[in-house]
Amino acid sequence: MVISIVGIGLIGGSLAITLKENGFADSIIGVDINSDNIDKAYRRRLIDQDMSLNDAINASDIIILSTPVDAMRQLLPGILNQVEHQVVMDVGSTKVNLLNDIKQHPQRGRFVATHPMAGTEYSGPEAALPNLFDHKCTVICDAMDSDEDALEKVRDLYQSIPMKVLELDAKSHDVHTAYVSHISHISSFALALTVLAKEKDENRIFELASGGFGSTVRLAKSSPDMWVPIFKQNRDNVLDVLDEHINQLARFRSLLIKQDYDQFHQLIQESNEIKRIIK
Ligand code: NAP
Repeated sequence: MVISIVGIGLIGGSLAITLKENGFADSIIGVDINSDNIDKAYRRRLIDQDMSLNDAINASDIIILSTPVDAMRQLLPGILNQVEHQVVMDVGSTKVNLLNDIKQHPQRGRFVATHPMAGTEYSGPEAALPNLFDHKCTVICDAMDSDEDALEKVRDLYQSIPMKVLELDAKSHDVHTAYVSHISHISSFALALTVLAKEKDENRIFELASGGFGSTVRLAKSSPDMWVPIFKQNRDNVLDVLDEHINQLARFRSLLIKQDYDQFHQLIQESNEIKRIIK
């Protein structure tokens, strides 16, 4: 099993380590526009060889797209033009636009759209982790548009990690990820800006910051190169969720202005319901 990973960063690199270690892949080919990242990937033994995209497609059984989502839209139609028996899959955080782009492509069936729901706030091959995906969930989108053998191979790949495989239509995927992933990043970016604007002396922030601040603001370390394309692709859903989030913030603000601490207590108690869902 020869697997090419296009974009050998956090997610691509973590898949490379895992699939090599668990024996699913015999050989990993790295493809990246950034030669520094290829060098780092060799040094960390994430890849066995590197190739141009065209050579990698011809040499592979599975091609995994793990670039930022805007680059995926540019690359995928050309890759599908070149594949015959190979399977192509992505790991991107948005799905509707990518799948619309290739809806009519004669080789659409060779593509399986996936999103492993695991990550960190760090980027690049140096951030790749061996156990990042263990026992997490991955989503396959619009599975009915993929060939049965391609789906089977991708399910086998994820189950080898092991990950739990769910199926969703692309539209629902993009709505749900706006809620469970994209809004928390905007909220964290905004919180970091709020505190940085007030506290010019960064050392004081570090002295006072407790675990609560650190965990709430952690996502604000994430790369804009990865996140701006996600917000661009999922703009309408993110705007809906952002409006709702701003409403919720306004409720807390208004209760504080009115000094209505009973209602404030009530709102926090309602939010504690999240304990039922996330332990
Ligand atoms: P990353 O660490 O920045 O890795 C992306 C890699 O792709 C980088 O090496 C980048 O090079 C390279 N690249 C950019 N454009 C390229 C192109 N046209 N051709 C070849 N390589 C290219 O990003 P990541 O966090 O692994 O994210 C990769 C994908 O996984 C994204 O689509 C993201 O939506 C998805 N995802 C991310 C997470 C997460 O938590 N991070 C979780 C699940 C899914 P440069 O460094 O030079 O840009």
